[in-house]
Amino acid sequence: MGMGNFGKTSSIRKNGVHLSSVTLKQSRDKILNRKHPWIFSGAIEKVEGNPSNGETVQIFTSNKTLVGSGSFSPSSQIRVRVWSFDPEEKIDVDFFKRKISLANSLREKIIDTSKTHAYRIINAESDELPGLIVDRYADYLVCQFLSAGTEFFKKIILEILDDIIKPFGIYERSDLEVRTKEGLQPTQGLLKGIPTENLVEVRENGFKFLVDIKAGHKTGFYIDQRDNRLLLSEFAKGKNVLNCFSYTGGFSVYALASGAEKVTQIESSFSALELANKNIELNGLSLTTVENINDDVFKVLRKFRDERRTFDLIILDPPKFAESASQIQQAARGYKDINLLAIKLLNPGGILFTFSCSGHISPELFQKIVADAALDSEREVKIIKQLTQSSDHPVALNFPEGLYLKGLVCLAN
Ligand code: SAH
Repeated sequence: MGMGNFGKTSSIRKNGVHLSSVTLKQSRDKILNRKHPWIFSGAIEKVEGNPSNGETVQIFTSNKTLVGSGSFSPSSQIRVRVWSFDPEEKIDVDFFKRKISLANSLREKIIDTSKTHAYRIINAESDELPGLIVDRYADYLVCQFLSAGTEFFKKIILEILDDIIKPFGIYERSDLEVRTKEGLQPTQGLLKGIPTENLVEVRENGFKFLVDIKAGHKTGFYIDQRDNRLLLSEFAKGKNVLNCFSYTGGFSVYALASGAEKVTQIESSFSALELANKNIELNGLSLTTVENINDDVFKVLRKFRDERRTFDLIILDPPKFAESASQIQQAARGYKDINLLAIKLLNPGGILFTFSCSGHISPELFQKIVADAALDSEREVKIIKQLTQSSDHPVALNFPEGLYLKGLVCLAN
């Protein structure tokens, strides 16, 4: 990377705007070679210019070579998130226009928007916009501003989204504790446009779903499972299906529409189950072959084991069990527990769709956990497909942390 016109110690931009800067420790000079967008506090030798929360800083190596710019986050361990590895690139309105347009045009290529109205437009670091999530639900956008830098440029980002996508309204669902690590308060609400009185109706692979963008989980719907729900359709015909952690019935609708004989849903949230019923009916499917159990999956699976109930197809899509690296062991015990119980409930030749959305659990570890469960079940279990998050949640190769959803389709004899 060249030094451009910046000179050895200058932090004066060509346009005369003075930017604050960080200088890396000599031992960490090479960290940006792999273009990972995070600079931890321990890699920084000094900060000059007293940058505020989220302000753009220039990034210098120890010998004063300018290598890029990023957003400064004084209270976070991730002290800087890189906006650009190009020392010449200005972080201004045009920068955000370029990045947002690029992300949006990628989705137009990979999503059939005539059949699917719920998809991720901006996937944070993997779309080179660290900390920014934007999901589209038909005529509404739902955003999460999860880094100090995205909060700093919030107004600009909103105007560009409004301009490019022209939604009816833009909601914020930054009601997440991780915001406090960035010195920001959790927050939510309408940011732009007109509010929606009702749930938003979307299509996903042609199926209809009502989404509660104001109070549902995450931004309202688990759009990251779209491709996996479609795959489930291929396995569901004539099957007795158990959908564990069913939320608003995503997997259930696909299963019933492809001819499942019966679907049993287990879900701890009563309102999610109610919405699942609405979604099933919205697709012209009957509730007579649906059994809802508003209870804890761990408990119900044990009850089914004791009752010797069995199923042909089981889905395990639990919430994130490991919120941090310190919780990996405990999470692994939870995953093993439900997978062991589920494998035991499968009829011979039964299929298990099992998932983990904990970023801290690697695909290798997840496979090992399921292997341990299979061993204890004394069943012969094979992986017939390995799954991940849908294609609108890409993983930039310089940001492996972007891969969080892992799934295995297993066949148990
Ligand atoms: N498969 C769903 C998403 C599942 S998210 C879909 O495709 O839309 C995980 C769900 O599990 C949430 O709805 C949450 O309310 C529920 N949940 C969390 N812990 C639970 C438990 N112990 N028992 C039952 N449901 C639980």
